[in-house]
Amino acid sequence: MKEATLDSAPNNLVHEPESPAAQPLRVGFVSLGCPKNLVDSEVMMGLLDHSGARITNDPATADVLVVNTCSFIDSAKQESVDTILEMARYKTDGKAQKLIVAGCLVERYRDEIRKNIPEVDAVVGTGELEGILAAAGVAPTPQSPFTILTSIKATGVVATGIHPTAAAPAIVTSRSEGDLRESQGRFSRHEWDGAQPALPQYLYDENTPRLRATASSSAYIKIAEGCDHPCSFCVIPNLRGKFRSRRFESVVAEAHQLVQQGVREITLIGQDTTCYGEDFGLKDGLADLLDGLAKVEGVRWLRFLYAYPNKITGRLLDTIARHDNICKYLDVPLQHASGNVLKRMKRGANAEIFLKTIDKVRAAVPGIALRTSFIVGFPGETEQDFAALTDFVREAKFDWMGAFGYSDEDGSKSFALGDKVPPKVIEQRKRTLMRLQKGISKKAKQKWVGREFDLLVEQESEETPLLWEGRTQFHAPEIDGKVYINDFGPFEELKPGGFYRCEVTEGHEYDVVARVVR
Ligand code: SF4
Repeated sequence: MKEATLDSAPNNLVHEPESPAAQPLRVGFVSLGCPKNLVDSEVMMGLLDHSGARITNDPATADVLVVNTCSFIDSAKQESVDTILEMARYKTDGKAQKLIVAGCLVERYRDEIRKNIPEVDAVVGTGELEGILAAAGVAPTPQSPFTILTSIKATGVVATGIHPTAAAPAIVTSRSEGDLRESQGRFSRHEWDGAQPALPQYLYDENTPRLRATASSSAYIKIAEGCDHPCSFCVIPNLRGKFRSRRFESVVAEAHQLVQQGVREITLIGQDTTCYGEDFGLKDGLADLLDGLAKVEGVRWLRFLYAYPNKITGRLLDTIARHDNICKYLDVPLQHASGNVLKRMKRGANAEIFLKTIDKVRAAVPGIALRTSFIVGFPGETEQDFAALTDFVREAKFDWMGAFGYSDEDGSKSFALGDKVPPKVIEQRKRTLMRLQKGISKKAKQKWVGREFDLLVEQESEETPLLWEGRTQFHAPEIDGKVYINDFGPFEELKPGGFYRCEVTEGHEYDVVARVVR
């Protein structure tokens, strides 16, 4: 699990009060989990800032503390609870008067949080981000009532509070797959204590206030929310609701705004970006969107996370190949490779089908970096199933790979499955798989030696001031290995957020070392 903490908020998010007499409320944020959650945090920070509160990086000086939680798997829940308890201490040791818990943990355990952690003053679910204003005790500004976020109404017309889009066309609000799954109970949360029966529906848009917490040159754009897929281990659809896309024009408008703010790298995110636009009746909506965004002047790198394997169309690959500013990078979480396990996961396919997809991707976009992730120890996973997975990993030779041990989530369909794999075996298999990938990755990284790449410089290394860190187009922000720079070439110093050309001089297991050449 990636974590964005208060420390990751840039200093420009701290606005000191002009005079002690008019001290604005100071709000500190901890954002846990994935980039999708980070965008929610950025929207909540934007709403607060827009209404006169000030965001601070220092929890000790905050009047209000917000923990935006993740509830994806057990370890993420534990991290969320630990962070809530850590922040609760500032109510006695600091000056915090309120502790607010937001995000996925609230959707899942709304009542239990209030009952078991009395320091928590308010909760805000994933579909009620505007509620952060009332929870923090901030009155919304007169021109921005609580309807500030775009919501898709039952009428099928997109409506916004402060920027009414009366002319917006009527849109289809869901995919038929999502409607079918809803009728089958896929999104049901009636067994969850205190859960609100209505599924989250919100989507932010280009007019929603948002304070970015990422580096100045990089930004995420959430292009869709929710998920309609039936994966039996996953409760995200129950937490986040049915799949819904943002309007095409809204995403393009936000990209223009970000470029004006100095952003050069845009990463599109959603639970499944490859379904983008299907709720509007679009086929290949993501390819259309990428085509539109690639033409936005100033966008140097454009990428998207995450692709569903059977949604990678020829048109999508052709679009990636055609535009120089679309990163040759694809993150396809495959989850497993054994047909038996994938069937029990309710995802389908098998190693043979995946290898054909990978061949198709590599043929269409030569040199593309492929990332995937797997779950090991899913209920019923046999030694043969695991061997099928290791054989597949050996053959597919991914550039980047992650492995999660299966986490038995109450509320998921797989919770009820028998043949649970013992935790010790899960751990062993995870280690085996990662060891295998380490060798594959090392060989691949050593082949980079002597090659030149465009490099986005990020910052001085946290480990030593002798090294700086950066990324190529083959590294997504925060998740893949790093490029360590030990030679600035013709430059006295490097500028964070600047693009340079580098030559790789050493290849290690996941990271490489490079020198700047121009
Ligand atoms: S595609 Fe599957 S694993 Fe991913 S969010 Fe949707 S249901 Fe969960």
